[in-house]
Amino acid sequence: AGPSLKVISTMSVGFDHLALDEIKKRGIRVGYTPDVLTDATAELSVALLLSTCRRLPEAIEQVKSGGWTTWKPLWMCGYGLSDSTVGIIGMGRIGQAIARRLKPFGVKKFLYTGSGPKPESAAEFGAEFVPLTRLAEESDFVVVSCALTPATQGMCNKEFFGRMKKTSVFINTSRGAVVNQEDLYHALAQGQIAAAGLDVTTPEPLPTDHPLLSLKNCVILPHIGSATYATRSTMAVLAANNLLAGLRGDPMPHELQL
Ligand code: NDP
Repeated sequence: AGPSLKVISTMSVGFDHLALDEIKKRGIRVGYTPDVLTDATAELSVALLLSTCRRLPEAIEQVKSGGWTTWKPLWMCGYGLSDSTVGIIGMGRIGQAIARRLKPFGVKKFLYTGSGPKPESAAEFGAEFVPLTRLAEESDFVVVSCALTPATQGMCNKEFFGRMKKTSVFINTSRGAVVNQEDLYHALAQGQIAAAGLDVTTPEPLPTDHPLLSLKNCVILPHIGSATYATRSTMAVLAANNLLAGLRGDPMPHELQL
């Protein structure tokens, strides 16, 4: 649209794909879709966590391939949520919705990290604000639900995975670039951590010959966090209304404050 571009409407809550400095400089207004996708994304995060820690894709494959033979005590064992410590990186809308869904599974303790403590959000889960290093060291499950920013880019790296327990499970439903994928590959391949579940990768789509796809202990989904019919429909209507309001010069239902 060149210089005539006045309004951008993104059908997402994340806005890391937008050149915000340039947008601000040109006085372009931006609409986005927070809140309406929180439940669907939290639900998918829990589904991915359970699929990963209880090894569902691997187990399904065993049924299909004839690997399911006689009952063996330790065959296809994984890790459960009962009595566990869950560390949430980014206790925002989606992070809180994930904690709310995980709590009834018998989680013993929630830890979280972010730019500062959020006592009001954390109270519901009795969650403790801790530095990233402590979250990595003490969590049985690490769930990443923060925004991608210069501060969070590559935050889950060699040092981070090196601090995690060998029996811990890593889940990322935020943005792929929060993770250093090469470091994650080595942590998984060398058994430094137990397993990882990713809904987001770098790049997207992930090439089908990517090393992460060769690992049994890595479950990868094609960025489907908000993909329910109802949620996508609500997001589409909100994105259209943001755009129309922007073009009319009216307040948008959800405008990004730049
Ligand atoms: P919110 O703005 O409500 O939450 C973002 C969180 O990121 C805040 O809690 C913030 O914490 C945290 N954060 C920011 N900087 C840091 C940091 N340095 N370390 C740790 N945490 C940090 O956004 P939503 O919960 O609505 O969405 C979160 C993200 O989820 C989106 O930005 C998007 O990338 C992703 N997403 C993915 C989807 C998918 O399909 N997989 C679907 C929808 C969203 P604080 O306030 O303390 O700074």
